[in-house]
This record gives sequence, structure tokens and C-alpha cells, in this order.
Amino acid sequence: MTGDKIPEGSISLQPFFDELKQHLKKTTVGSLAGNRTPRQVRAVADTTMEAFTTAVTRLEALSPPEKPLACKKGCAHCCHLAVMTEGATVMRIADHVRETFTTAERTLLDMRLIVYEDKVEKMTQSQRSMARLPCPLLVDGVCTVHPVRPLVCRSFNSYDVESCEKQIHGGGSTGDIPAWNVPWLLGLALESGVKGALVESGYADGDLELGLALKAVLDHPHAGERWLAGDRLFARSAWKARKP
Ligand code: SF4
Repeated sequence: MTGDKIPEGSISLQPFFDELKQHLKKTTVGSLAGNRTPRQVRAVADTTMEAFTTAVTRLEALSPPEKPLACKKGCAHCCHLAVMTEGATVMRIADHVRETFTTAERTLLDMRLIVYEDKVEKMTQSQRSMARLPCPLLVDGVCTVHPVRPLVCRSFNSYDVESCEKQIHGGGSTGDIPAWNVPWLLGLALESGVKGALVESGYADGDLELGLALKAVLDHPHAGERWLAGDRLFARSAWKARKP
């Protein structure tokens, strides 16, 4: 999920994806104008996720998958890729953790995040891209934040689980996994729209590595307010902070 998957096809839908991206960027910049609050950031993340779900449902009628997707609950090969996202989604996931996790679940997550940070913090971009580590939000093969998971997790899909296993765990390229391009291209467009809006609004960290960014938020009281006020909360979780 680090962007090495290169989709193909669905060219006729590209103008629609571009328009959606620009629309999301414009509305997100508008919603973050003026006094910014964590509630507004949460609304940005929720709006983006809803836009994805609505658009996929509608586009399925226009450009359906060629055959049934292999993705199902308990299959988590793709959850061993590095997950990139942006600040609004990280804040939304942190809210979900605080609101729904039991004390024991939260303690275990905090421990997984410490171990995760210890493993990845000194890796170069190249090393991190190739390391197949389980996402710290994955428990028994299931995503513990499924309703608010990042766009890249929503859009990743496959027609062939054996190909996922081979390419992801065998050091290959996710671009070689046969997939339905519609959600993938849609996810890329929406992600780009939100990231562009955040940059334009003054939050220029770019791609954030989910595990590290989530740890930064959960570790700091009032993280949302601090980030909105200009605190470089995500400086260490920004992908560009890593050496190539
Ligand atoms: S956030 Fe959820 S879906 Fe995404 S990689 Fe982590 S466990 Fe998997």
C-alpha cells in the first residue's frame, strides 16, 4: 500500500475521478477555513469515506468487476504492506479507538504500537516498503478499525488470493495482483484530493505511515488541537522524513 501498485484500464472513468478529486479538495479546504476544530477534521474524514462508499456503489453498475473478488474477512495479506494515509484519517481512527476499544484492547494496541515503532523507525523508505510487517491494527486476521480504515485499505482488492500471497509475501509487486481497478483509482483520486486540501490548509507532512502517526496521536493529550494549531505532531511519521 505504499503506492507501488500501478492500476490500468478504466480510462473512460478518469475524468470523473479527476472531477471528484477537485471537488473533494475544494470542499475540504472550505470546511477547514476559519477556526479549525477536531470535529471539523472528523467530518472531513467521514465525508471522504462516505464519498468513497457511495461512488463505488454507483460505479459498480457502470464498470463492474470482471469476476468475484477474492477479498473476505480473515484474509489479511494486504495488511502486511506499509499503510500510507493523511492526518484527518489518523485522527478519525484515534477517535474510533478511544470510543470503542475496551481498556484491555487499548493496552494491547499500545503495546503493538510500541513494538511496531521500535521495528520500523530506523528503516529507510526502501527497507520499509519491502518489510512485510502486520499492521498494528490487525488482530487475528481482522481489522480492529474496519469502519474507519484508511482509503488505501478500502480500495485495495484482488481477484486472486494466491497472487496476493505470492506478490506480498514473496517480495513481488502489488501491481501484479489482478484487481478491480475502479475502487483503486477512486481511492487514489480521493486520497489525492484530501492530501492536496491539507497541504493547502497548512498541513504539509504528506504521506503518513499509519502505525507511527496513530501512535503519535494516542500518545499525546489533545493531539487534535495541537496538530490544528501547527504542532508538527506527524513529523516522525511522515514518509518523506525517511531516508530513501
Ligand atoms: S488499517 Fe485495518 S485494513 Fe488497513 S492495514 Fe491495518 S488492519 Fe488492515
